[in-house]
Amino acid sequence: MEHYRSLNSTLQEQFGEKVYKLALDGGFTCPTRDGTKGTGGCIFCAGGSGDFSIPVGEDAEEAIETAKSVVAEKGARKFIAYYQSYTGTYAPLDRLRRLYTQTVRHPDIVALSIGTRPDCLGEETVALLSELNTVKPVWIELGLQTIHPETAAYIRRGYPLPVFDDAIRRLLERGITVVVHMIIGLPGETPEMICRTAEYIGRSGVQGIKLQLLHVLKGTALADDYLAGKFRALSLEEYIDIMEQCIERLPPEMVVHRLTGDGAKRSLIAPLWSADKKRVLNEINRAFERDGIRQGSKFVHGAQK
Ligand code: SF4
Repeated sequence: MEHYRSLNSTLQEQFGEKVYKLALDGGFTCPTRDGTKGTGGCIFCAGGSGDFSIPVGEDAEEAIETAKSVVAEKGARKFIAYYQSYTGTYAPLDRLRRLYTQTVRHPDIVALSIGTRPDCLGEETVALLSELNTVKPVWIELGLQTIHPETAAYIRRGYPLPVFDDAIRRLLERGITVVVHMIIGLPGETPEMICRTAEYIGRSGVQGIKLQLLHVLKGTALADDYLAGKFRALSLEEYIDIMEQCIERLPPEMVVHRLTGDGAKRSLIAPLWSADKKRVLNEINRAFERDGIRQGSKFVHGAQK
């Protein structure tokens, strides 16, 4: 039994073979970094989660070829171009158009995935994404992290929940696939609060979710609070328990893109157990089996409150 709808099996169904992600860095920044909304970035962010991304200059094709040679197993033929660093729609429209048009035109790219923020999706940008979506599927990944305003203020997310609601409505209306990131283990959040965020995303109509463990990384403001003893990191058991509850509350058809997180090991402060990704995934699979977890078993349809 498949306990949850994984990205790998979904891609296999959709494209008929294994599809590889190419991590690309379009050279963006964020409004919470460049002074528009702040300068420090989100409290947990050590640099846009793009440590292993290939920088893209004027020529996306060249970067795609380099990225392919880094990740691809022999015989790999299909790739998703993933612009994961910083805010992938935070640049002048003509630059976005040039970069992303070059990307979707590459014959080996089967989908374009862009990590961005809901407050960086103006009408013209959404229109461009919609146009690109007619060439290759476009996925927009949004870092919501939490629906709770007090946590959003603490992590310096920089936009209120209605901005997220409005952005996903406009993206979904245009037929663009949306994947939402949420963090499990943010300071001050109880398991019930975390489950409410999962439920909210589950009912929002978006197609995908990334569940991420909170990583405390060196050089972040979050690390200062952690080292000052202001909060503690989750144990592996606690994480799995909360994650299971979230999975059960998601609609069965929602694609789960991630169950943990990909923190850079060398800058990880806590929780240290998360560095052993293989063990974590084994423990998760064992727990899913033991607890008979089934995605959607506690999903409740209904309008957002
Ligand atoms: S918007 Fe994303 S990349 Fe930018 S500071 Fe926040 S988490 Fe980091």
